[in-house]
Amino acid sequence: MSERRTSFFDTKIEFLKGVGPTKAELLNKELNIFTYGDLIEYYPFRHEDRTEFHRISELNEAMPGAQIKGRLRSWERMGEGHKERLIAQFTDGTGIMELSWFQGITFLEKTLRLQGDYIVYGKPTSFNGRWQISHPEMDVLTAENERGGYFQPVYSLTDKIRKRYVDSKQISRWMKTLLESAVQHIHETLPKPLVQKFRLISKQEAIYHIHIPLNFEALKQAKRRLKFEELFYNQFRLIKQKLITRETYAGQVFTKTQLLTEFYQHHIPFDLTGAQKKVIREIFEDLRSGKQMNRLLQGDVGSGKTIVAFITMLLAIDNNAQACLMAPTEILSDQHYTNLKRFADLIGIKIAELTGSVGKKARRAISQGLEDGSIHILVGTHALLEDYVQFKNLGLCIIDEQHRFGVAQRAKLWEKNQNFRPHILVMTATPIPRTLAMTLYGDLDVSVIDELPAGRKPIKTIHRYDSDRLRVFEFLRSEIMKGRQVYVVYPLIEESETLSFKNLMDGYESIARAFPEYALSIVHGKMGWKEKDYEMQRFKNKETQILVATTVIEVGVDVPNASVMVIESANRFGLSQLHQLRGRVGRGAEQSYCILMTEYKIGKETRTRIETMVRTNNGFEISEVDLSLRGPGDMAGTQQSGMLDLKVADLAKDGEILKYAREAAMEILENDPDIQSPENAPIRHHIQNLRNNETNWSRIS
Ligand code: ADP
Ligand code: MG
Repeated sequence: MSERRTSFFDTKIEFLKGVGPTKAELLNKELNIFTYGDLIEYYPFRHEDRTEFHRISELNEAMPGAQIKGRLRSWERMGEGHKERLIAQFTDGTGIMELSWFQGITFLEKTLRLQGDYIVYGKPTSFNGRWQISHPEMDVLTAENERGGYFQPVYSLTDKIRKRYVDSKQISRWMKTLLESAVQHIHETLPKPLVQKFRLISKQEAIYHIHIPLNFEALKQAKRRLKFEELFYNQFRLIKQKLITRETYAGQVFTKTQLLTEFYQHHIPFDLTGAQKKVIREIFEDLRSGKQMNRLLQGDVGSGKTIVAFITMLLAIDNNAQACLMAPTEILSDQHYTNLKRFADLIGIKIAELTGSVGKKARRAISQGLEDGSIHILVGTHALLEDYVQFKNLGLCIIDEQHRFGVAQRAKLWEKNQNFRPHILVMTATPIPRTLAMTLYGDLDVSVIDELPAGRKPIKTIHRYDSDRLRVFEFLRSEIMKGRQVYVVYPLIEESETLSFKNLMDGYESIARAFPEYALSIVHGKMGWKEKDYEMQRFKNKETQILVATTVIEVGVDVPNASVMVIESANRFGLSQLHQLRGRVGRGAEQSYCILMTEYKIGKETRTRIETMVRTNNGFEISEVDLSLRGPGDMAGTQQSGMLDLKVADLAKDGEILKYAREAAMEILENDPDIQSPENAPIRHHIQNLRNNETNWSRIS
C-alpha cells in the first residue's frame, strides 16, 4: 500500500477485530496474509452476482450462477464410499430442483433444516429435464440478504482454512472491518495526469469497490483501475531495467563489413525477404550504437531466422569478435551447426560445435581455438556455459528458444567477456502473443520476422476422423507416388510411457501393413541418439518414404521433400505443439499438407484448436487463441517467470489496458527518467514502498 512513515498497513493481522492469534496463524500459514496491508491486497478472484433472485422455472444453462430463495423438502444420502453424496430436494414454489454434495455430508446432515427459507447460489445444470446445483452455497435467509442487490467477492482459499470455517464471507466481514479504518490511509499510487487521462477511479475507491462493490459499474471501474496500476508498474519496472542496462553497459561497436559484403554479394543463396532485411537493419543499428544489445527475434517456423543469425555473426567476426549460438537440445544444436557450417564454409570462417557428447580431447581443441581466436563461431548446448569455455573476444551470443533458458543463464554468457558484455540476440520460433511478449520480455527490444520467403505455398490443413483412415492412406499413397515423403506422428501419453510406446508400435504395424511396398523409418524416445540419427538419415536420404515417430521430431528436422504431416490423436496436442509439428512440412516448393486425425467425438476446446489450425498458418494468430484457451500460466515458458504473478490483470483479456499502461510508463520514463518531478511523486513513493515490503520483517519473526 502506498503508506509511508506511518505503519498502519504493517499492523499484524491478529490485531484486526474478530481475527485474534489463532485465526491469524491460519491466515499467515495458509494465505500468506501477515499484515493489514496483505489482507487489503488480497483481492477476490471473481464476484458472484447476487443482485437478483431467480426462479427455478426460469433457469437456463447459460447462467454462470443462479440465486434462488426457497425451502428444502427432503434430503437423503446416496451411493457408497467414493460415490457417496447427499441429494436434497429444493423448491421455490415455481419448481423443484436437486442440490447435491459430495463432501461435508455429515456436517450438512446435522445443520440443514426443513423449516425456514434458504438462499441457494450456484451454477445450474440440467439433467434429464431436472435442474440441479452441485455444491451450492447455502445461506439462511436473513433481513440482511433477503433483498439481494450485492456482489459477493470470492477469495481463493485453501482446503485447510475452509475446514476451519474461514470462507469468502468470513474474509468479507474482516475486510469490511478493516476498510472502515483503512480507507483514510490509502494513498494514490498513480500520478494525477495519468488518472485523469485514462479516467481511472482513485486507489481508495478501487480498493473499496473490489472488496465491497456497490454495483456492477463500480466493480468494473475498480477492476480496470487496479489492472491498469498493476500493469503500469510491471511495465515501469521492465522499461526502467532496460534503460539502466542500456546506460550502464557499453557494447562493442561493430562497423566494419568486409566479410559481410563479400558474403552478401557472392554467396548468399537467395534474396532476403523484406522482413529479414528489416530485422537485420534493427540489429545492426544496435550493434553500431555503442550500447549492449538485448534483443528478441521472433519469427515463425520457416521464416528464415538462421540466415539472420549468420549475417549478424559475420558482422561480429568482421570486427574481430567471436560469436556463439546456444540451443536447448543436442538435436537442435546439430541442426544449427549443420546449417551454419554450410554458410561458414562458403566464406572460409571456422565454426565448431560443443555439446555434452563431445569428448575430452576434442573439447580441449575447441577451448584452444576459442582462446586463440581461430574459431569464429561456436554452436552448442548448455555446455557453452561451462566455466572452462573462454573466448578471446566474445562479441555476440545468440540464444535459440529463449523460454527454456533462464535469466541467470543469460547472465553467465555476459560474464564470458570481461571487457564488454557480449551483445545478446534471443531467437524464438514459438510465436508469443504481444501481451505475453511485453511482460515476459519487456526488458528486451523486439524484432519480428512476419513474412515467409516467397514462393512458399501455404500448408493445407485438414481434419479427418479415425474412421476416414483408409481414405487418408489412399491420399498418402498418391503423394508418395509423386515422390514425396510423409511423417506420421503419435502423441506422447504423459501418464504412461508404455502406453505411448504401444500406441506408436500399433500405428507402425498398421502402416506397415497398409504400405507393404514402401520402406518405413521409426523414431521414438526409447531409442538411443545414434539409432535415431540413423533412422532420420535414412529418411533424409529418401531410403524410406514414411517416418513414424513420437513428438521427438518436433525440433530440428529439415527434410524439404517431406510434404505430408499426419498427426494422430491430434486432440492430445496443444496448439503451439501442433503448429510446430506442422512447420516440419512446407519447406520445399511442393504443396504440403497437414492432416489432423481425431476420434469422432471431441470436446469443445479440442474443436477450437483443430478449427484454428485448419483456418490459419499464422503462428501469432495461433498463439493468441492458445492464450485465450489456456491462460498465460500454461503457455510455453511462462511457468518459471516470476513476472507473471499478476494479481488482477489477465494477459489473455487485458491486452488493451497493457498497451496503454506500457505507453504511459514509457512516456513518464522518457520525460522524467529519475522520477524527480512533483507530479510523479506517487510513483516514487510507491516504489519505495514496494522495496520496503520486500524485506518485511513480520514475515521472518
Ligand atoms: P527458421 O529457423 O526461422 O524456422 P530457417 O532459417 O531454418 O527458418 O529457414 C527455413 C528455410 O528457408 C531454410 O531452408 C532456408 O534456407 C530458407 N530460407 C530462409 N530465408 C529465405 C529466403 N529469403 N528466401 C528463400 N529461402 C529462404
Ligand atoms: Mg531454425
